[in-house]
Amino acid sequence: MKQEQVTAVILAAGTGKRMNSRQKKQYLMLQGHPVLYYSLKAFEESCVDRIILVTGAEEFEFCRHNLIEAGSFQKVTELVAGGKERYHSVYAGLKAASGSDYVLIHDGARPFVTETIIARTLEGARKYGACAAGVRSKDTIKLADEADFSRQTPDRSKVWAMQTPQTFSYELIFEAYRRLIERENKGEPVTVTDDAMVAELMMRHPVKLTEGSYENFKITTPVDLLLAQAQMQAGVWTQH
Ligand code: C5P
Repeated sequence: MKQEQVTAVILAAGTGKRMNSRQKKQYLMLQGHPVLYYSLKAFEESCVDRIILVTGAEEFEFCRHNLIEAGSFQKVTELVAGGKERYHSVYAGLKAASGSDYVLIHDGARPFVTETIIARTLEGARKYGACAAGVRSKDTIKLADEADFSRQTPDRSKVWAMQTPQTFSYELIFEAYRRLIERENKGEPVTVTDDAMVAELMMRHPVKLTEGSYENFKITTPVDLLLAQAQMQAGVWTQH
């Protein structure tokens, strides 16, 4: 019987405009290592077989020396150049992941992912074909109209803030992204904000949601980096 192949695609090709820093957020230093190091480490120590790292082509050298060699990461088998939008970067990573049975798509700007969360999404993907990490909203969410008047207040226990990893059967997510890019190439509008949405829209495939953790946040703005430093010093995220 063919052995199952599980691949992580870690995304780090964004420009991080909201960070207001000259350096891209995934390379800012956090407790002695670039932010991206921590996601690579978590996946290296997880049940995945290989890691595809998607970055800017101009960062390949830096990643090879300062991350992959520095961390002795054995599972990173390929560096792939990302694209303009996140979904272009995902598609580039998925093409490189051909031959996989399952693929975990993860934002390199989320350094607090854990082995447990990784394993939980993979388990869900094996069972349902698609499973994404998220957390139930701590805040009340309003749906507004064009003039910013509140129109609806969804039941908070059913509102999830999505995170990564988002994990899928390879065939399903590759075909979903292939259709998305085809749609874009035809000049149709494409607005997607996570991978689960691509599976839902393009394949009508239901996505199981599973607990990530409030600590598994994405570093987006300068205050997130301060929070990340505090969280890392306190070492409070590893139990999830
Ligand atoms: O910009 P945002 O915070 O949504 O990015 C989420 C993740 O996707 C980040 O890790 C970022 O580096 C990555 N990304 C990418 N290619 C892009 C845009 C974002 O790999 N074109």
